[in-house]
Amino acid sequence: MRTADTPEKLRLQVADLPRPLILVPTMGALHQGHLALIRKAREIAGSTGSVAVSIFVNPIQFDRPADLAAYPRPLADDLAQCQAAGVDLAFVPASGSMYYPDRSVTVTETLLSKHLCGATRPGHFDGVCTVVLKLFNLFQPEAAVFGEKDFQQLAILRRMTRDLDVPVEVVGLPTVREPDGLAMSSRNVRLTAEHRADAPRIQRALQGVLSLLRCGERSGDLFLARARKHLEESPFLRIDYLELVDAETLQPVGRIQRPAVLATAVFYGDVRLIDHVTLCP
Ligand code: AMP
Repeated sequence: MRTADTPEKLRLQVADLPRPLILVPTMGALHQGHLALIRKAREIAGSTGSVAVSIFVNPIQFDRPADLAAYPRPLADDLAQCQAAGVDLAFVPASGSMYYPDRSVTVTETLLSKHLCGATRPGHFDGVCTVVLKLFNLFQPEAAVFGEKDFQQLAILRRMTRDLDVPVEVVGLPTVREPDGLAMSSRNVRLTAEHRADAPRIQRALQGVLSLLRCGERSGDLFLARARKHLEESPFLRIDYLELVDAETLQPVGRIQRPAVLATAVFYGDVRLIDHVTLCP
């Protein structure tokens, strides 16, 4: 496996990688969710194409400095996992090599980022769009694979590539979960044992509303109330947001008449976890 730790070295490596080149952008602390993306990338690249992974804890997408400082960075283990998964090129930019100190251009999405994580994490999606566009420009991949776990991020990146004519196909993959239903996340390792045992409630609270849907219920308030009650039964978590939005526009909906997404972010201590469920009428 090749590695590069600056954009300049990366460009040289990318120049002689066989095409198609499929990119999996990550912040590291790799788990089975990331590995599923890497397998998908290999499937698209085929045995003669190339799979690249970027591992970069992107400072400009963090709204809380403590979250950035505490983000796990098991780099040696990540590289071993990439190697074992058959990755051809790992890009691990040294801190400071990705952004010019006087950088003054940022990508801003103005509609899909209004609610959900965009509302509670100011500037987060500007940071995501900016780093992903930079990675797309550096790698010039044919396609890039992202997780549906971060469904707002996926929708925004699809919109970015469409609106800015970025010639990269954005591929989404379903959320990979622990056996007890908790969505895999690099942040899960920071949960205390008590919090980890409680956390599968997030998915259960969201899935719990599906019975209302099957009974013909369509009122958004009822779905939100049912899920909120289940989440609030936890003595540990604090709800950051719980919202029902249209699956395409990501704007809040009062009734479920088209596919909608019930999404939440919760805090266990200072560890923030997200999950969602799609509701089809
Ligand atoms: P991260 O390292 O958390 O920034 O995530 C890198 C990529 O992995 C993003 O496209 C995420 O959506 C995706 N991802 C993270 N967790 C999961 C999961 N549990 N299942 C599927 N994809 C995931």
